[in-house]
Amino acid sequence: MALTRRMLLGELGLLSGAGVSFAAMQMLGIASPGSAKAAGFALPPGSGAGKRVVVLGAGIAGLVAAYELRRAGYAVTVIEARQRVGGRAWTIRGNQQIDQIDRPVQRSNFSEGQYFNAGPARLPSSHHLILSYAERLGVPLEVFVNSNQSAGWDFGGHVEPQRRMVNDVRGMIGELLAKAIDGHSLDAAIPKDEIKLLRDFVRDYSGLDAKGKYGATVSSGFADWPGAYNHPPKAVGTLGFKQLVPSPAIAFPYFFEQIMDMQATMLQPVGGMDRIADALYREVAPSVVLDTPVNAIRREGAGVRIEHKNGVVRADYCVCTLPAPILARIPSDFSPAKKAALKGVDYLKSAKVAFEAPRFWERDDHVYGGLAWTDRLNENVIYPSHGFHSARGVIVGAYVAGWTHRDTPEAFVKLPIAEQIRISARSIEALHPGKSTLLTSPVAVNWGQVPWSEGVGAIGRDFGEQKRGAAYDELCRPEGPITFAGEHLSYVGLWQEGSALSAHEAIKLVQEMATGQKVA
Ligand SMILES: Cc1cc2nc3c(=O)[nH]c(=O)nc-3n(C[C@H](O)[C@H](O)[C@H](O)COP(=O)(O)OP(=O)(O)OC[C@H]3O[C@@H](n4cnc5c(N)ncnc54)[C@H](O)[C@@H]3O)c2cc1C
Repeated sequence: MALTRRMLLGELGLLSGAGVSFAAMQMLGIASPGSAKAAGFALPPGSGAGKRVVVLGAGIAGLVAAYELRRAGYAVTVIEARQRVGGRAWTIRGNQQIDQIDRPVQRSNFSEGQYFNAGPARLPSSHHLILSYAERLGVPLEVFVNSNQSAGWDFGGHVEPQRRMVNDVRGMIGELLAKAIDGHSLDAAIPKDEIKLLRDFVRDYSGLDAKGKYGATVSSGFADWPGAYNHPPKAVGTLGFKQLVPSPAIAFPYFFEQIMDMQATMLQPVGGMDRIADALYREVAPSVVLDTPVNAIRREGAGVRIEHKNGVVRADYCVCTLPAPILARIPSDFSPAKKAALKGVDYLKSAKVAFEAPRFWERDDHVYGGLAWTDRLNENVIYPSHGFHSARGVIVGAYVAGWTHRDTPEAFVKLPIAEQIRISARSIEALHPGKSTLLTSPVAVNWGQVPWSEGVGAIGRDFGEQKRGAAYDELCRPEGPITFAGEHLSYVGLWQEGSALSAHEAIKLVQEMATGQKVA
């Protein structure tokens, strides 16, 4: 039976509203077909003259909204709680204080030039809008290596390079399929004229011999690497089913790089993900007020009154980009339906741990960028995609988001920071024996406890499927002169692309209210 999208959703708990893995969200967060068109978006210059807009939050959504509104001539004020812009687009460099709710304060200790993208780290080439802002604002990009055949997979207590796992599993499945075809088990399932075609395809695709057997292939790696003169290569042997599939947790890494938003070519801004937010900030800085948490959102006459730490801002319109868990607690004149919808939004609570170290993964183990996968609680190790062969680098020792099992984030974020760091270091030790002693300057970021974020982004029943639920529709609806934006109000949720796309939608509504004219 074909695995339909709906069956998959049920399987993953999306339809039941149960906890859902980030992996599933990524699978379903297919890049918006509208994003290419959105990249050319602009409100008519001068069309906002004489109108005031207050934008709440200076993350990507708020900054994009402010940038486009200013270009159209609106008088814009952006109110941001933090002392920096970028929100979840947070890059940690040396000597920064890291505050987390109910966690001890940490201080990063990275060397000059080193950085850790604690939030977003990669940009799919299908995210046309965010890439268009990077291009327009002169943010240089480089390749983010999102998959590496030399990186290790550590499952069931056994480490193998990705190339051996991927090639052998294809061989194993092909061998089984060939056996079923040759034994006539599929005669009823496949039209006669297609059987030979399929059998020939499986032979070539899976590297089978004339008898339908998969044997050692050099694509899986070498026991003896090829040399010159009298040094011929010797392929590694084949792995058995239990080694290739020690548990269901390994299914995800096998297809990770085929997921729409994870497909090559992936990109990253040179110098850190916050470079895009910084570039937008440079364009709108005179409008932005930092270190000013919003305390109340009120309607006043036909406009809005925003109460904040230092006083009040009045405006004709508001674009509110605050994360839902925070917005749900801010006193407002929102409708009961909006308040109820905000209260029901669940944000994914994932965590990342990073270390600085001499680049042993390149020098000794020849791993240049990419991800290692594991069924340990840390789930992922991410190697830096830049600075190859330089002295040191920042290695991400954990990116826990439910990739391999939906319960890993909950289990990991329960742990003290010292234990999260230990688990991450042990995982790196398993992948690179003897090297964990070289890891220094650990930092652990638990997103559920990051002030002013309180999670990675919206998940759950109303945010899981391409056709979103009732709460999503309610949250997109303006409240009089107040419009809403943020990654959670897009079909590219959990990505900066979604934030930028939603900002466009919110300011289109502002423009329609201000001019009485619909924006295409
Ligand atoms: C671990 C992790 C990995 C990710 N990976 C990727 C990735 O690889 N690629 C990618 O593109 N995206 C990724 N994302 C998603 C991306 O970071 C977000 O979708 C995007 O940055 C959200 O932008 P936003 O403007 O919608 O919200 P935010 O960035 O949350 O902006 C909201 C702003 O509101 C401010 N604020 C909150 N409360 C108040 C208040 N009371 N008063 C005033 N201001 C307030 C906040 O400080 C913040 O600046 C990742 C996110 C995380 C956390």
